[in-house]
Amino acid sequence: MTKVFEKSSAFFDTFERKPSMQKTTHYCPGCGHGTLNKIIADQVAELGIQDRTIYVGPVGCGVFIYYYFEGACASAAHGRASAVATGISRANPDAITVSYQGDGDLAAIGTSNAIHAANRGENMIVFFVNNNIYGMTGGQMAPTTLIDQTSATSPTGRTVKNDGFPLQMAEIIAGLEAPTLVARVGVNNPKNIRQAIKVIKRGFEIQRDKKGYAFIEVLSQCPTNWKKNPVESCKWIDEVVSKQYPFGVFKDIADEREAVERSCERVEFAAVSEQLGLVDTEKESSQQIEMLQDELRFKFAGFGGQGVLSLGMMMAKLAMQRNMQVTWLPSYGPEMRGGVANSSVVVSKNTIGSPIVDNPNVLVALNRPSLVKFGALVPEDGLIIYNSSLIDQIPADLKGQAYALPATDLATEAGSAKAANVVVLGFFAKKTGMFSLDELEGFLRETFKKQALIDINLKAVKAGWQAAKEV
Ligand code: SF4
Repeated sequence: MTKVFEKSSAFFDTFERKPSMQKTTHYCPGCGHGTLNKIIADQVAELGIQDRTIYVGPVGCGVFIYYYFEGACASAAHGRASAVATGISRANPDAITVSYQGDGDLAAIGTSNAIHAANRGENMIVFFVNNNIYGMTGGQMAPTTLIDQTSATSPTGRTVKNDGFPLQMAEIIAGLEAPTLVARVGVNNPKNIRQAIKVIKRGFEIQRDKKGYAFIEVLSQCPTNWKKNPVESCKWIDEVVSKQYPFGVFKDIADEREAVERSCERVEFAAVSEQLGLVDTEKESSQQIEMLQDELRFKFAGFGGQGVLSLGMMMAKLAMQRNMQVTWLPSYGPEMRGGVANSSVVVSKNTIGSPIVDNPNVLVALNRPSLVKFGALVPEDGLIIYNSSLIDQIPADLKGQAYALPATDLATEAGSAKAANVVVLGFFAKKTGMFSLDELEGFLRETFKKQALIDINLKAVKAGWQAAKEV
């Protein structure tokens, strides 16, 4: 009978990572990750647990799993996937929690996180993808690199004397009392794949039944960094790698295990903040800003060097002084060297969901490319302040209330063109009534150390304030 292989329904129909790769993953040809992803997705779909499954991705070649698995996904910092998965599992006792980690991630920087999660018997399934090398970063030696195996950082081969023995994570985890299932499988040939499917299914059934911790080490080929072709890589797992890391189920006590039920009490965010002394409720109610809206989402944009990051930081700090909730997200990168640099600031009376500002309701554009790029994103009831010293053409698609402010000219008159950002601060504060002039002046005196800079910025903020009175 011919078996038809289909894309799993637990995968997205289209992978949005790159327009040119909407049907394929980013993994190199012959890599074991793709096969493992397919097995995981098939088991999730077959067991009907897709709506309950939460994946935690690592740093490493598995980092983009959120582009592939159609489910809730979280990305963890390097080595921390087991810790993040612990939080997710405890907060969502009915979830199926998956921690997907490579050997650099789990067996090096994250060893302690992994072992303690195993030792607590968390309700989670951990996939430990062991290809005995750091894949994504260019083939450096990992704790799992074989003796004599060459890598970018062991060009003459790993030695016991220098580097110790390859770390056998499955055997280590199996030695702990708490884990329910511990196994090592391979995805390098049909026989091993069939066994991997069986073990992975078992691991997910254990999660479905809340029977504790499952650890599945997967020997996976990395043709790119092993410098072998895919066929040679698959053979090398059977002939060499599996001698160091034997396949097998080292522990399976699911049949004698009771379900591990952990209660999860919902705690109000405000109660936690109060307990930690983060909110002075009396001060908060008396000192919150009278704002245009409950949540202001600022985009400050301009050339690198125009002070858009520090303008965002000043706005955030001023709002913090009023006990507002605040986030500040700078945009670094090549744009710092001449294009559009920007910072996003959210100021809110309530808990902020995300620091990302896609649709600002306040835009400060200090140069023309910024106004062109972000201007049309501001809604009709939003505010746009643009630097008319440098912008002489206004895009036709602006919807928000736009004010022309000759910020660079006014700053130059105050003593330095670099103070254009502070001119904007004064203008905005006066126009919206968000801060008083006294408050701004006190803040600038605290912010700048040198008297000459304090003087320039005080003049600049007054110039902006005055300009707001005149328009
Ligand atoms: S570098 Fe290695 S592990 Fe990473 S995607 Fe390529 S083959 Fe796979």
